[in-house]
Amino acid sequence: MQIGYDCPSCSASVRLTGIETLSVLPCQHCGTALEVPADGFAADSPPRLARCLVCPSADLFVRKDFPQRLGVGIVVVGLLASCVAWGMRELLATFAILFVTALIDLVLYLVVPDCVACYRCGARYRGPGADGFAPFDLETHERHRQQVARLQELAPRPPAGG
Ligand SMILES: [Zn+2]
Ligand SMILES: [Zn+2]
Repeated sequence: MQIGYDCPSCSASVRLTGIETLSVLPCQHCGTALEVPADGFAADSPPRLARCLVCPSADLFVRKDFPQRLGVGIVVVGLLASCVAWGMRELLATFAILFVTALIDLVLYLVVPDCVACYRCGARYRGPGADGFAPFDLETHERHRQQVARLQELAPRPPAGG
């Protein structure tokens, strides 16, 4: 199983493979090692992910393992190209470009595999064993967002100076 997450210490993106065999997740950038929790994996074959290994959350969801920027980029390029074609009064080309853009998006959606992501810290898990979770749920997402906001409110703030 693979993991991709932002290091809590230095915010560098960390990618590791074979995490079911590791006892710690080492950051290649700052050396911070996150201990893999004992209940991180369910005793299955192959071991199944049971909770997030980066943060204390057990709320994970299934999503497409697709870089969002790439998806948005394809749509933007398609829209720009269709605008150019529209400006040149190429009606047929305009609709052909829009159609192809939608088609590329659809094909990518069908081809790209699923991965599992953490609501709280955004860590992503891929490969055998990273499955069995429900799709994205807005309510759970909102709960985690509010929890993080509350924690930030509780954090000691420097005294307001005048
Ligand atoms: Zn780090
Ligand atoms: Zn997490």
